[in-house]
Amino acid sequence: PALPIKPPLTIRLCQPRGFCAGVDRAIQIVVLALKKYGAPVYVRHEIVHNRYVVEGLQQLGAVFIEELHEIPAEHRDAPVVFSAHGVPKSVPADAVARNLFYLDATCPLVSKVHKQAMRHQRLGRHVLLIGHAGHPEVIGTMGQLPPGAVTLIETEADIDRFEPEDASALGFVTQTTLSVEDTAGLLKALEQRFPDLKAPAAESICYATTNRQEAVKEAAPGADLFLVVGAPNSSNSKRLVEVAERAGAKMSLLVQRASEIPWDEIGAVATVGLSAGASAPEIIVGEIIDAFRERFDVRLDLAVTATELENFPVMRALRDVELTAA
Ligand code: SF4
Repeated sequence: PALPIKPPLTIRLCQPRGFCAGVDRAIQIVVLALKKYGAPVYVRHEIVHNRYVVEGLQQLGAVFIEELHEIPAEHRDAPVVFSAHGVPKSVPADAVARNLFYLDATCPLVSKVHKQAMRHQRLGRHVLLIGHAGHPEVIGTMGQLPPGAVTLIETEADIDRFEPEDASALGFVTQTTLSVEDTAGLLKALEQRFPDLKAPAAESICYATTNRQEAVKEAAPGADLFLVVGAPNSSNSKRLVEVAERAGAKMSLLVQRASEIPWDEIGAVATVGLSAGASAPEIIVGEIIDAFRERFDVRLDLAVTATELENFPVMRALRDVELTAA
């Protein structure tokens, strides 16, 4: 019997998508630390917000913990890596107090935001941090300064509620993975209320966040479905889902693996947009395209908006491993 004819489908694949230079560096740090020092290597918090990556590193001998006191006494000489999201200053201080050897995988672009927040404070300003409560990056950035020096702004209501001691001495920074548009809206409201508000010397939303959102805006208009590969706790991935919806995708979903695609729900589709958050590995993008190929006659169409050449080297202590491993 003749094979059933598969319906045609165009997948608009966003470029850039997936791993950014900060995520790539953080994963390399764990891999190289395992090579240099052997297992176990402790990692405080998910190194990047992706289960697939975390499980892969666990298989190599990484042990994930939430706090440093979880490192058992007999492994006190094992290295501990801090995640790409950054940590409050109290964490390296705690590591020193416990005599632990740590490797800080904080993305250099997050460290840059930390420095901007500290600079505001040095110049006598109260710091406003635009970001999402509870996200590790927000906890890390707030923790660069003493309690009370930073106010988190998540919504317009937070702006209305905020009563500064001195409205002429305010500076802001933002989380690196926010929606470019939503942040612009909040900033406008902030500047209206506090005309003297000072911007950081450099943009806080990172290149990877901006580029991934731009590519989604290019691919999403008119798509029957838009899929973003990413974890439910990945801030930048969640923003891509929102951007896709706002840019005109009829349905927009976050999935971690191809097995999560709700085939019954999505029904007949002719055009699907596809991107991946900064912590999502390319192999899962391939897995998703393959899953569509099983059901559709797929044509790939690239939505290219930028070429990324960023590359963040690992710390000196691990560079010799990298060279011998090559
Ligand atoms: Fe760094 Fe941006 Fe990647 Fe976060 S999303 S790790 S800030 S490059």
